[in-house]
Amino acid sequence: MSSEPGGQGLASTGRVSRLGDLDYAPAPESAAIVSIADAYGLYIDGHFTDPERHESFATLNPATAAPLARVARASAADVDAAVQAARRALPAWSALPGAERAKYLFRISRIIQERQRELAVLETLDNGKPIRETRDVDIPLAAGHFFYYAGWADKLAFAGFGPDPRPRGVAGQIIPWNFPLLMAAWKLAPALAAGNTCVLKPAETTPLSALALADILEQAELPAGVVNIVTGDGATGADLVDHPGIDKLAFTGSTEVGRQIQRRLAARGLPLTLELGGKGANIVFDDAPLDEAIEGIIDGIFFNQGHVCCAGSRLLVHEGVADEVLRRLRRRVDQLRVGDPLDKNTDVGAINSAAQLARIGELVAAGEAEGATRYTSACPLPAAGYWFAPTVFTDVAPAHRIAREEIFGPVLAVMTFRTPEEAVAKANDTTYGLACGVWSEKGSRTLWVAQRLRAGVVWANAYNRFDPASPFGGVRESGFGREGGRHGLEAYLDV
Ligand code: ADP
Repeated sequence: MSSEPGGQGLASTGRVSRLGDLDYAPAPESAAIVSIADAYGLYIDGHFTDPERHESFATLNPATAAPLARVARASAADVDAAVQAARRALPAWSALPGAERAKYLFRISRIIQERQRELAVLETLDNGKPIRETRDVDIPLAAGHFFYYAGWADKLAFAGFGPDPRPRGVAGQIIPWNFPLLMAAWKLAPALAAGNTCVLKPAETTPLSALALADILEQAELPAGVVNIVTGDGATGADLVDHPGIDKLAFTGSTEVGRQIQRRLAARGLPLTLELGGKGANIVFDDAPLDEAIEGIIDGIFFNQGHVCCAGSRLLVHEGVADEVLRRLRRRVDQLRVGDPLDKNTDVGAINSAAQLARIGELVAAGEAEGATRYTSACPLPAAGYWFAPTVFTDVAPAHRIAREEIFGPVLAVMTFRTPEEAVAKANDTTYGLACGVWSEKGSRTLWVAQRLRAGVVWANAYNRFDPASPFGGVRESGFGREGGRHGLEAYLDV
């Protein structure tokens, strides 16, 4: 792509020329609304406590690599205390009338809305994603999940799971770093609505919004022990998985760790939900509305720096429109504003960690070594912190690592097709099965393709659309079980 006329010229002039001679003035959101403590304990049985071994680790701001706070590292004994607190809270919580549980969930939702600016800034600081996304997507959707499941709490008997569905008990919940507060809401809201109590383990690089949520739970006067939050790394997660006192485990994270967890739990027959990786395809037909498709492709791979399990990380484009799509795509990639995540004009923020940046770099190098053609936006990148410029690969073969492995970064692999059959075959040529997008004006073609795609979610003329009422989840190596919607209740009910 880089050899095409205009591409290098546009890119090399930086931001200014792309919009005529106009550029956006910086519009940073103030961080003053957030107060971050120097150190945080574990949230167990309704209060913050010191970890048994007094161990802690730092959580960083990925945009600067500067430490934000020290966070407790929970040991097996701490996890045990959290599980026991959840067990003690279970009888009273599960016996509450659903309408009473709903009041707490509505309250949590309302407080998240009231504190949404603070939470958006906090999430952006700890995760590195743009404030526009935390403000418009993460936080409103987190509030939306509590609100949506509050509505189910007194209607469980009408959810299609029998006349008197019972909670499973104590739920262990392990979440990743790409949508920290939103993933906490995805896990906690249905579990609590169904009458379970919870032990939540946030990811080690993004614990702060879950700890802010603990404060919100207190504000909502949620009874002690109903939700316990234990911070730590994979070892803490493993202690939760191995704890004999949990009745259900829900995990969102990498396929590799998901596999390990499934193996470890196989003998116990513990109910398990796994939401794992993906290698989603955006399929663009020659009759697609191209302006919308370009925005969908951009959103599909550059939203949240591509740290999205359902990212549209493969673009399958019909040969007849490939040149035109690539020309427009490159122009749009050049316009993406990469930088200060707190700036309201920023499109692409910081990569979440040094480890993730190294993984992206390794796979991009493999793409080049295997013969794909790389085009990377010439946008300026900040000196400190973890950054990767938006990148598009063409001349990609289905066997290339960049076409098969989840990169979890702002890197798109483009391939072409000639017939709908070939598009379906290429889209399904993956071990994953989380999400796909189909772009076409023709409804019958979209349906034909969608029926043949092996993916949990198929978007038509859209990508990365989420709604609390809509079930989400994968097939094959992307996991099993559904979160969201009525289906999301099933994981937390003994049906
Ligand atoms: P990533 O590779 O993208 O960081 P992980 O799957 O490693 O994703 O992490 C997702 C979540 O799983 C995090 O909260 C992490 O601490 C936790 N985790 C990592 N390893 C294990 C493990 N062996 N058992 C349980 N949880 C784990």
